[in-house]
Amino acid sequence: MSSLPALRYDWTLDEIQALWQQAFLDLLLQAQQTHRHYFPPNQVQVSTLMSIKTGACPEDCKYCPQSGHYQTGLQREQLAEIRKVVQQAQAAKAAGASRFCMGAAWRSPQEKAFPAVLDMVREVKNLGLETCMTLGMLDAQQAQALADAGLDYYNHNLDTSPEYYAEIISTRTYTDRLQTLAHVRDAGMKVCCGGILGMGEGMQDRLKLLQQLASLQPHPESVPMNMLVKVEGTPLDQVEDLDELEFIRAIAVARILMPASYIRLSAGRENLSDTSQALAFMAGANSIFYGDKLLTTSNPEAQKDQQLFARLGLEIEQASTPVSEQVRAAALNQALQEAQTSAYFYDATQNEARAPKPCGLLV
Ligand code: SF4
Repeated sequence: MSSLPALRYDWTLDEIQALWQQAFLDLLLQAQQTHRHYFPPNQVQVSTLMSIKTGACPEDCKYCPQSGHYQTGLQREQLAEIRKVVQQAQAAKAAGASRFCMGAAWRSPQEKAFPAVLDMVREVKNLGLETCMTLGMLDAQQAQALADAGLDYYNHNLDTSPEYYAEIISTRTYTDRLQTLAHVRDAGMKVCCGGILGMGEGMQDRLKLLQQLASLQPHPESVPMNMLVKVEGTPLDQVEDLDELEFIRAIAVARILMPASYIRLSAGRENLSDTSQALAFMAGANSIFYGDKLLTTSNPEAQKDQQLFARLGLEIEQASTPVSEQVRAAALNQALQEAQTSAYFYDATQNEARAPKPCGLLV
């Protein structure tokens, strides 16, 4: 392997724009070449998500059906029992996930619930999984407590450019967001931080979002790139569709700006064709969510992902402790049966608008 391209934190808008505007195939080639300096070319890291507290969020993020400000028909759920969380984490690990992400629809963690959240981190960590949480804003003490409990990653997205942020959320500021990210870093945790495209933002906003992410030092270890999933009842449900090729460009530019980070093809993946997903992997995406669809929709959806990986020759990055195919199959069955009876998951095939879309689905 030749010498690694240097990591930079000082990309100018002009430089980012020049990357974005080059011919599509040139951009993809540059992104893929960059990717191969840092990562095995045909491996995808797989994370699984569980919503540990759903709906009734006091924040007013215009893209989110979990906000208490909008009528989306989403069923609210209290904090999940630790037993249920461990059960789902076991199933996720057996299904091949190396990281288990837990998302709660809070402005910030509730004091009363926080000890249980810390227990969830410890229990999931004990299974040999990487742990990730998204719980809203953290102060320094909360960040340290999560780190001490063994939390590996904290997800906190910047969503869009500083300039467009107030168009999307009025209940917190960009500065609040950056402050929480600083607390997460100071506590020694890894950062999962990305954005959402297709919320009616302009090109400059997309460039500025990427510039903000790439100016974080160190870069976020994980960068979720989300394409807006329009949910009826949210203020953005009629926004104009984003051109898929623009989304692929964003992934490619993110790969070049943050070459050592995992770029996650996140929310909106279910709306992309197999061909577009393949292009996203070519552009340098090397992480996806796997379990949320697996646990909330019928088996053919899970099989479809597996088939796509097989068709593309992609391998799942191994969890720390390999599991046998038999154990994996048994756990998958258990997870699917659980999904049919569990109050913690929805059958997204029955009513897309009712599927939980927490911050966590955007991690
Ligand atoms: S994105 Fe997160 S903070 Fe915003 S409304 Fe949804 S759950 Fe709440």
